[in-house]
Amino acid sequence: SHAIRVGIAGYGNLGRGAVAALARCPDMRLAGVFTRRAPASLRLPDPATPVLPLNDAAAHRHDIDVMILCGGSKDDLPVQGPELAQWFTTVDSYDTHARIPRYFEAVDAAARAHGNLSIIAVGWDPGLFSISRLVGEAILPDGATYTFWGKGLSQGHSDAIRRVAGVRAGVQYTIPVPEAIERVRAGERPALSTREKHRRECYVVLEPGADPRQVEQAIVTMPDYFADYDTQVHIIDEATLAREHAGMPHGGFVIRSGRTGASENQAMEFSLKLGSNPAFTSSVLVAYARAAWRMKSAGETGARTVFDVAPGLLSPQSPEMLRKALL
Ligand code: NDP
Repeated sequence: SHAIRVGIAGYGNLGRGAVAALARCPDMRLAGVFTRRAPASLRLPDPATPVLPLNDAAAHRHDIDVMILCGGSKDDLPVQGPELAQWFTTVDSYDTHARIPRYFEAVDAAARAHGNLSIIAVGWDPGLFSISRLVGEAILPDGATYTFWGKGLSQGHSDAIRRVAGVRAGVQYTIPVPEAIERVRAGERPALSTREKHRRECYVVLEPGADPRQVEQAIVTMPDYFADYDTQVHIIDEATLAREHAGMPHGGFVIRSGRTGASENQAMEFSLKLGSNPAFTSSVLVAYARAAWRMKSAGETGARTVFDVAPGLLSPQSPEMLRKALL
């Protein structure tokens, strides 16, 4: 059996991460990167990697076993997901939680009509965190589930502070409140307000002449984004921003706190500490690309989520090896 031939659609943070993740998987091979931009404008780590126009992707359907969709959830995937599911077995990291059912339907229809298989909403949240929540609720029905995020860079909140008048550049970190996590771990099952679960920290570079007090007020009172949280604003210079805030760390905790039998406290916890959110998310996508190829090879068609994928399918090892090594 040949190495699984993988295509990458879209070359942003996730696309770059997928190239790096594939290099660590000997059973898979990067067959090409597809982009909407001029192919010659992209710089790949290996200059021999074919870079092709996304518009021509269908012509390469016999050269690609699985296409990893690395477009943005807001504008790219709603179009690219159903479109590419016509031609390829796909995996994607669609993460607009409220719209997942609708997106699933669109991809499912396209994949089914053309005999392909697509795993949607892969990553860590949605993704690995979703699996942890499901397992916790199935095993401890008398309980409560808590998700804490961070410490992590939030793209949406960083964009929001950059839109404030007087702000030249900035980043926002979401930080879980340690006291809240401790209460949950102790089995208290507390009712926690938004403010009690997370706080927000902003690092902001001002436009020349901007009033720091005014900028801070505009940020901390911003409805939806900051008003319901304790928010700290730190004014820094451009060099500090470039030096200390260029990474994209993230992570978090899913905790299921429940009771069994004669009301013993039981806690299940899954946590991630990510040096790079996109590089990790791409690594999850690559493992699910392997599973997608196996499911498609077994004759499955239509859309799936992480809930439908057996864990053994993620591993490069055979079921026999897994029983010996990991059970
Ligand atoms: P990017 O903005 O980096 O890339 C999105 C697309 O934009 C790319 O596919 C690329 O398409 C285009 N693009 C990238 N860089 C440039 C550029 N310099 N100029 C013009 N176009 C560019 O997004 P990310 O890779 O960071 O994230 C993609 C999605 O992943 C996010 O929207 C998010 O929803 C999801 N995600 C999901 C997670 C999960 O846990 N489920 C976790 C993290 C992210 P093209 O090459 O065709 O131009």
